[in-house]
Amino acid sequence: MSERESIAGQTVEAARRTLTARFRSGGIESAQLDARALVGAVLGLDLTGLITAASRRLASDQSIRLEGFARRRLGGEPVARILGAREFWGLPLKLSAATLVPRPDTETVVELALEMLGVSPAPGRRLRIADIGTGSGAIVLALLSELPGAVGLGTDISLPALETARSNAVQLGLADRATFVACDYAAALSGPFDLVVSNPPYIRSADIAGLAAEVRNFDPPGALDGGFDGLDAYRALIPQAARLLSPQGILAVEVGQGQHDDVRALMKAAGLAPEGAAKPDLAGILRAVAGRKKPS
Ligand code: GLN
Repeated sequence: MSERESIAGQTVEAARRTLTARFRSGGIESAQLDARALVGAVLGLDLTGLITAASRRLASDQSIRLEGFARRRLGGEPVARILGAREFWGLPLKLSAATLVPRPDTETVVELALEMLGVSPAPGRRLRIADIGTGSGAIVLALLSELPGAVGLGTDISLPALETARSNAVQLGLADRATFVACDYAAALSGPFDLVVSNPPYIRSADIAGLAAEVRNFDPPGALDGGFDGLDAYRALIPQAARLLSPQGILAVEVGQGQHDDVRALMKAAGLAPEGAAKPDLAGILRAVAGRKKPS
């Protein structure tokens, strides 16, 4: 099967192989996986469905759509962007140009927050969560899916991101417990919250140009750029979060590689006691840091 071959009129299996070959020669490491995801999306089939449909021929509208997807992938666009969807914490999420593609790394923040939520709120009160810079809503929606007694509030400075987050909440059946508000970090919120979470922009401005093309060219710059030393967002949001937390409340944030100590120092300066060790992601990078508000 040659990568130059047209996929028009090919069988599902042949189209998958053709795209894999094209992606391989285009230097795409995940060629096979990406080809399968794109063919699957065009046909509305999962892996089992694709295997069953292997010898079915593509309809012409399907091969036209698939050619379009393949061109975008070869142009460096990530599969999640092309499909406008990505799974996070096992939840299917929609994406938009205004949101980051949720990363598996960010699940570390969800894990750390859940581990630390030992203390329940006062009887009769629901656990309150705030997610600062919520984007697609990934973190707060993952937490709400785990904590049936909790209510969540997500903020973002981008209205299109909030639309995406809201529609994800609806699609996941969490809309009755999730509210989304436009503001800078936590500026419009009043507490108390039992848990504040955030995956803020943390890339040093000078490092943006060196990011992988898939990130640099397709993730929204405002969700990446953390200023000169990458810590601007933490400087803004940690003191805000500290004021919003209930006594014993928890702040859990994602950090960039090597930022855990600086972020813990900012937490301390804001009156939060850094708790436990920084939590590594699957690649072993210390990715999530938490602090607890001291009882007043
Ligand atoms: N995880 C993203 C990256 O490394 C950065 C996201 C962020 O700045 N919060 O490309």
